[in-house]
Amino acid sequence: MLVDESRLHIAIQKSGRLSDYSRGLLKDAGLRIQNGKNDLTARVENFPADLMFVRDDDIPTFVSDGVCEFGVVGENVLQEFALGAAEAGIEIVARLGFGRCSLRIAAPETAEYRGPETLRGSRIATSYPCLVRRFLDERGIEADVVKMNGAVELAPRLGIAGFVCDLVSTGATLEANGLRAVETVLDSEAVLVRTARDVGDRKAELGSRLLSRIDGVLATRDSKYIMMNAGEESLERISAILPGAEAPTIVPLHGRPGHFAVHAVCQESVFWETLQKLKDAGASAILVVPIEKMML
Ligand code: ATP
Ligand code: ZN
Repeated sequence: MLVDESRLHIAIQKSGRLSDYSRGLLKDAGLRIQNGKNDLTARVENFPADLMFVRDDDIPTFVSDGVCEFGVVGENVLQEFALGAAEAGIEIVARLGFGRCSLRIAAPETAEYRGPETLRGSRIATSYPCLVRRFLDERGIEADVVKMNGAVELAPRLGIAGFVCDLVSTGATLEANGLRAVETVLDSEAVLVRTARDVGDRKAELGSRLLSRIDGVLATRDSKYIMMNAGEESLERISAILPGAEAPTIVPLHGRPGHFAVHAVCQESVFWETLQKLKDAGASAILVVPIEKMML
């Protein structure tokens, strides 16, 4: 494939748990993606960038080699890569809040488990040998780590290993295989990564444009614009209740001396309980509206 040097290249997972979220993030950042899901690449119509749809495991390699300037990948995959590489060549530029899961060591439900010491001398099957090895080394525990590329949870039943270490979100898969999680090796979420290589001025500039848009998307995700009216005596209490807000804007209401409109951007979720508290503090006509775009 010919790589167009004037465009950014962004690697995202082709199909899997991260793909829809990754596309959604780029769409929210205003990138219009042309091709269908089954292509290997897609052109962004309205921003000088091309997307590459690849296996998540290949994303760190692409980004560290500089084939792609950016990528969206699970921290679990990224850290496993970094531990196995002489020089990672990748930096995390944003934590994305999706793809949350934990890499956990699990034992057969029937087995007794008394802390990490129990792992000494055992065999642990995993797709993340470097992360498991680090976990064991940090605790001074010697054990065999067996690398498997899939179906890790079958290992105990097949007699391949006594323990497994795998990604868990609800624990249902472990349970269905007669296993229970006993240790957490890593808590993970999807991250936006950037190559540490020098990409030249043009791409660096495109990269920072992309990043500031993505920062804006992430900042607006939970943010709300909140408006209400209140008497002067309530302003202090109301300001203290507003969740994650900078200094609110307070403007006098025309024709109602001593009454004000309070406007604020809340960087955290606004719950019904919060509205009740605001009302109790003297606010009325409370409005909460979503924020579509924000540039910080
Ligand atoms: P690929 O074909 O791209 O190699 P995969 O089968 O390795 O796909 P997925 O199962 O789609 O990968 O998971 C991708 C990422 O989603 C994981 O690396 C992890 O960061 C995240 N993830 C979130 N929840 C879970 C979960 N319950 N199990 C596995 N991965 C999860
Ligand atoms: Zn994978």
